[in-house]
Amino acid sequence: MPSTKVVIIGGGISGLSAAYFLAKNGIPSTLIEKTDRLGGLIKTDIVSGCELEAGPDSYLAAKPEITDLAQELPDLQNQIIGSNDRHRRIFIVRKGRLMALPRGMVMMVPARWRPVLISPFFSFRTKIKFLAELMRAPLQRSNDVSVEQFVNDHFGNEVLRNLAEPLLSGVYGGDSAHLSVESVLPRFLEYERNYGSLIRGVRRNYRESSHKSLFLSFRGGMQSLITALARAASNHMQVIHAKVTRIEKSADAWRVHSGNGEIEAKSLILACPAYVCADLMGQAAPSLASDLAAIRYGSAILVNLVYKKEQLRRTWDGFGFLVPRDERRSIGAATWVSTKFPSRTPPQLTALRAFITEPQASELLNNSNEMLTHLAREEFRRLLGLEAVPLLSTVHAWPNSMPQYEVGHRERRERIFSRLAQCPGLYLIGNAYQGVGIPDCVRMAKETAKQITVHSTA
Ligand SMILES: Cc1cc2nc3c(=O)[nH]c(=O)nc-3n(C[C@H](O)[C@H](O)[C@H](O)COP(=O)(O)OP(=O)(O)OC[C@H]3O[C@@H](n4cnc5c(N)ncnc54)[C@H](O)[C@@H]3O)c2cc1C
Repeated sequence: MPSTKVVIIGGGISGLSAAYFLAKNGIPSTLIEKTDRLGGLIKTDIVSGCELEAGPDSYLAAKPEITDLAQELPDLQNQIIGSNDRHRRIFIVRKGRLMALPRGMVMMVPARWRPVLISPFFSFRTKIKFLAELMRAPLQRSNDVSVEQFVNDHFGNEVLRNLAEPLLSGVYGGDSAHLSVESVLPRFLEYERNYGSLIRGVRRNYRESSHKSLFLSFRGGMQSLITALARAASNHMQVIHAKVTRIEKSADAWRVHSGNGEIEAKSLILACPAYVCADLMGQAAPSLASDLAAIRYGSAILVNLVYKKEQLRRTWDGFGFLVPRDERRSIGAATWVSTKFPSRTPPQLTALRAFITEPQASELLNNSNEMLTHLAREEFRRLLGLEAVPLLSTVHAWPNSMPQYEVGHRERRERIFSRLAQCPGLYLIGNAYQGVGIPDCVRMAKETAKQITVHSTA
């Protein structure tokens, strides 16, 4: 049986960046990916000169991991592009119409008073609640609570349903009644602990927004990151395209069974979704597997529609809009791609992207691309008055792709990692544990590569 120092299962950004950081330290790895491409959820379709994202379209500029990584990769130097933040506005659908979110909001918390108080976005009752929230005393909660309870406590139902929920559903896809405040809104929990009032916490830490980009991406789309990483790692990384079906523990190694045969590794990095890890580890580490299986996932569907500019009666001055659940629409959010990242489309074209989140995503997953395109067009017709026939469209469904950080997530994660300590040479990385963003995935991969490097040189 062939044996190698390190095997990585999963060729998304987590697995690939782990291979890259190992390669940088001179450590070879074998990466096993079940599909015929690398990138996992990250994929860019280049069609008619448009860069259409099948999954993530950018990363948060405030998290440095990707920008730091890009500086190291020759193919990515000078390839970072910023979102067009002179037009950074978000709209929310209220009673079937788009309403601009007042400026100076930090998620659901007002950092500036005037725009909030003069905006028709919030009812008089909610404005009074904002003012009353300033009086709250610092609070140390003994238990994790749901986002629903936390936001309701501070600002009431209107802010929860029309703002917090739609903002979070594009990132976590989940239900606010189950999402953990400790894992999803840790900064706000800290403000509650230190100041009582989230508004006071936010205002103390608020910097007036410059027009610096909030989101960053790459020329050629997010796929450029994957291509550059794969190239930089290639001298030390062997890629096998096969589905891993089982993992066994042997005396001092891990035995990996895949469609390509068996391979043994001293170090094994699992960089696939937690439910896949659970299936693979069922026999080798049953208690670890059962905690991993308890991390639930939501699905998502993305529909990109491209129009000729001349077909549209107007352009949209903002990044896009969010749809609260009470509006009962099939899409949860939309991005005006050509406003957020103008270089994504040639000057004569405009792209819009519809994001279908839970609970609709699971219900619609089995629909045809034609049906999903029709549905997105219908929503744009009703909400934007957009009757034109798109020049082209792309549809990507991502079943069970968004891990839900539910109440108690931190404890479960700690339990998982303490069980992992009983499995020497086994590592878990990916979006199921310490953050769902691409920078979080890269941070975990880097830390893991460092640990493996330290062990193998000790
Ligand atoms: C629709 C959507 C939009 C998003 N937008 C953003 C965004 O704008 N910004 C941001 O920062 N984050 C965004 N995210 C989150 C981010 O994309 C993910 O957290 C990140 O890409 C996850 O990377 P990963 O490598 O951990 O997992 P994945 O990308 O899921 O990769 C896991 C890999 O494992 C492989 N695999 C699974 N089972 C097996 C097996 N048995 N054998 C071998 N291989 C296997 C899969 O094929 C896959 O390639 C978004 C997520 C979604 C779903």
